Amino acid sequence: MNKTLLVIATGNPGKIRDFAGILGSEKYEYKTLKDVGFTDDIVEDAETFAGNATIKARAVVKWLAARGVEAWVLADDSGIQVRALNGAPGVYSARYCGVHGHDEENNELLMKNLEPFEDRAARYYCALAMLHTSDPDAEPRIVEGECRGHITKNPRGTMGFGYDPLFVPDGYDKTFAELTIEEKKGISHRGNAIRKLPGLL
Ligand code: IMP
Repeated sequence: MNKTLLVIATGNPGKIRDFAGILGSEKYEYKTLKDVGFTDDIVEDAETFAGNATIKARAVVKWLAARGVEAWVLADDSGIQVRALNGAPGVYSARYCGVHGHDEENNELLMKNLEPFEDRAARYYCALAMLHTSDPDAEPRIVEGECRGHITKNPRGTMGFGYDPLFVPDGYDKTFAELTIEEKKGISHRGNAIRKLPGLL
């Protein structure tokens, strides 16, 4: 049986592992942007997660279609939303402190901004956009996943990335950074979105 090619619009091998771990390798073959040779800069300037996921999926699917590749393109955009901060950092999660990817500064700012509040409820959220090269201008299918929890006062753990040392998922007393990759995948926002894909691809 020919496998369906899934191009995951990411440079992060950890994300490919999430997809392959959940969807399996029997039916699907997985490639990153690097694998297919896509190096264009994509400006993710939408105000919603779904909007940014669509921008990424659209850029990659058009590029692949122009080269005659047949594939599904899956692009995700994710972040953390804190209830007392009206959903911030939200789509600005990666650059909350003003500089893209400065995890420690992002975490410090989040803790500082949350100090005056009793309510520490938060959720991780992920939107996944899917487009096929046979119809690159189509409206993308969007699936969503969330993981609810709260922001701890004491960062703990060394696994994961980003806000993981601060985030305690509901039903656990450990932060995401104290869970194994497998434990996190079983409950994470991205895992929950990916688990909705079978049947859609
Ligand atoms: P992206 O969707 O991979 O670009 O993630 C955007 C930003 O959201 C990251 O840079 C992190 O700050 C935050 N984020 C998304 N998912 C996670 C996660 O599972 N753990 C920690 N931070 C995350």
